[in-house]
Amino acid sequence: MVLQGKVALVTGSTSGIGWGIARSLAGAGASIMMNGFGDADDIETLRAQLAEEFGVSVAFDGADLSRRDEVSRLVAETIDVLGGVDVLVNNAGIQFVAPIEEFPEDRWEAIIGLNLSAAFYSMKAAIPAMKAKGWGRIINVASAHGLVASANKVAYVAAKHGMVGATKVAALELANQGVTVNAICPGWVLTPLVERQLLDRAEQSGTAVEVEMERLLVEKQPMSKFTTPESIGAMAVFLCSDEAETITGAALSIDGGWTAQ
Ligand code: NAD
Repeated sequence: MVLQGKVALVTGSTSGIGWGIARSLAGAGASIMMNGFGDADDIETLRAQLAEEFGVSVAFDGADLSRRDEVSRLVAETIDVLGGVDVLVNNAGIQFVAPIEEFPEDRWEAIIGLNLSAAFYSMKAAIPAMKAKGWGRIINVASAHGLVASANKVAYVAAKHGMVGATKVAALELANQGVTVNAICPGWVLTPLVERQLLDRAEQSGTAVEVEMERLLVEKQPMSKFTTPESIGAMAVFLCSDEAETITGAALSIDGGWTAQ
């Protein structure tokens, strides 16, 4: 139980990768602050399920992290309700796909706001508490798109590259404070974020979603397999362990070979 007695805030944990990370951290003994959007009853079911399955405290706060004041309020709420913020996982993220000349300006602002700026504001709010304890783990869920680009994803690629940069800066600043800061860079993970892209692709090309699924993988990854939220959760738990105490400032790929090419 690597994280017994620790508190983890996982943004965007009502779905997909964030939910996988929240489950893994709870399995390692951490109390969890969940965050994200969704149906209130569904979220309450997930919250209660997590608490019961792993015997840890689980709270939920639906802060809209596209709003700066909501990000710092969420960090303060985590400390108030669960007694600290030892692990911060910046995971909430959105996507939009279009060429630059057609890319809606409000989508650019929204993606930069949530996928990049929210991580800055949450680190800013959480670092003092981590420094005071002399222990902390910050895990930024970036992407293969934090390391390489794809056409039609200008805001997402810019935000994820920015997140990798911010991760490195925070790692340098906290190198001797007991706080590590790393980015996880997944390749394709089959979550609602990717399912929406698959549906759009199938509609545009008049093919089946299953066909687009195979194409999507082959286009980018030598390994034609999706990474699972559980695997990313296991990576997050490892980054929280004592054995990982000197891993900091790293952008760790878990991408079926996507960025090896
Ligand atoms: P998802 O759509 O399943 O989950 C996104 C989560 O963010 C949800 O809980 C949603 O409610 C929450 N969210 C959205 N807007 C929010 C806001 N304004 N405030 C608070 N929460 C908000 O997507 P996912 O695939 O699990 O993505 C999670 C992270 O992983 C994202 O940062 C994404 O960029 C990254 N990622 C995903 C993949 C992939 O293939 N799915 C690959 C690499 C990186």
